Amino acid sequence: MPLMTGDEYVRSLQKIKMRIFLFGEEIDNPVGNPILQPAVNSVKATYDLAQNPEYADLMTATSNLTGEKINRFTHIHQSPDDLVKKVKMQRLLGQKTAACFQRCVGMDSFNSVYSTTYEVDKKYGTHYHDNFVKFATYVQQNDLTVDGAMTDTKGDRSLSPSKQADPDLFLHVVERRPDGIVVRGAKAHQTGILNSHEVIVMPTIAMGPDDKDYAVSFAVPLDTEGLMMIVGRQSCDTRKTEGCQLDLGNSTYGGMEALTVFDNVFVPNDRIFLNGETEFAGMLVERFAGYHRQSYGGCKVGVGDVLIGATALASEYNGVEKASHIKDKLIEMVHLNETLYCCGIACSAEGQPTESGNYLIDLMLANVCKQNVTRFPYEIARLAQDIAGGLMVTLPSEKDMAHPVVGPVIRKYLAGPAKVDVMDRFKIMRLIENLTLGTAAVGYLTESMHGAGSPQAQRIMISRQSNMSAKKAMAKHIAHIKD
Ligand code: SF4
Ligand code: FE
Repeated sequence: MPLMTGDEYVRSLQKIKMRIFLFGEEIDNPVGNPILQPAVNSVKATYDLAQNPEYADLMTATSNLTGEKINRFTHIHQSPDDLVKKVKMQRLLGQKTAACFQRCVGMDSFNSVYSTTYEVDKKYGTHYHDNFVKFATYVQQNDLTVDGAMTDTKGDRSLSPSKQADPDLFLHVVERRPDGIVVRGAKAHQTGILNSHEVIVMPTIAMGPDDKDYAVSFAVPLDTEGLMMIVGRQSCDTRKTEGCQLDLGNSTYGGMEALTVFDNVFVPNDRIFLNGETEFAGMLVERFAGYHRQSYGGCKVGVGDVLIGATALASEYNGVEKASHIKDKLIEMVHLNETLYCCGIACSAEGQPTESGNYLIDLMLANVCKQNVTRFPYEIARLAQDIAGGLMVTLPSEKDMAHPVVGPVIRKYLAGPAKVDVMDRFKIMRLIENLTLGTAAVGYLTESMHGAGSPQAQRIMISRQSNMSAKKAMAKHIAHIKD
């Protein structure tokens, strides 16, 4: 059965020789690094949960390629039910990790590349779909984690890829050889790249005929020569090097992003999924973005569940849980969170088959989902901070709490209700701090804003899908207006 355990996953990751830069130093693997290990743990959870019979229905699926039981994170969606289960799985993972568990970008690129390559081959007689199916089968049979790399660094955003002063500001083909292509460029904010076995690269925007070299998609393993990752900082990240658990809020799980550089990377022919068919770049981008906008209706909701739970506990630990405005604010948080879930489920339930046979979410509803995600987690976080109170940001350090002189003073003066263990109160304050201001705020807030496309990208899609002329015709009909 092609399912790895979490421990096997970590061991498999350790074997990959990567080129990583972190705080000005070069390291070759994320495993065991105090800054990076929590992000490894989050991906590990996607393997551990798949081993648990309680979650088998959500965490696993039957492959349409091999007929075998596989981790759902490597699945090609075969029905609206698969799409719904994907969102439920992501909510579950968000609840279990309270962090970005990173493996979704690969799943979303899988499904968008699968359907797009089918349509490219149909038009041009190319073999990209065969290439991709071979690659996907390999990933499923070995239960690999795949990063999906879309976002180019983009340079001057008023210019197309081929018009940039530096041609490398969008990833592009620099050489075509009989056995493959050589590419150069960089992908920004690559979620989970260090914790992946493979990376699928896709174009970042719709392209015109001049951008032929930029309309490229392929997959390479993480130890490919010329690949380099520069890890991005997160707010409060160095707390992870202090050896204190409490100050972290969430000491087990986290997420990570890196600027990923492709410096003359060779891609063999059978790993190429798009190579110059510019008119299909937009389709690939639209589908990947749609799937990832659906994803946020699951993962952010799961993290939201943890934040709402933490806030309810904070109200009890502050002794204010009976106040009517507190109860009402908690209801508002739940309402906002479940609204996001409604969108995630709705765009999945309305999914339709593509020409290749896999299922695509309803793009309008997926974009509405993500548009709400750019707002509601911020309001949920605001209410959490409102209820938690100022202590969340003025609490002394764990080291002070352990100090023989000031430790007892802190416990005496920062105590809440007598029945509440003061250290439990501190733990919940730190968790709320982590989720709304610390390392996890990258995943819960900033990524809600910009991940899978910034708010304006969804508004463009909503406008494109809005079918305004049909709506005007309905209004004319009701108002008895003749054309
Ligand atoms: Fe998955 Fe959410 Fe992280 Fe994207 S932001 S990789 S959907 S957990
Ligand atoms: Fe994301």
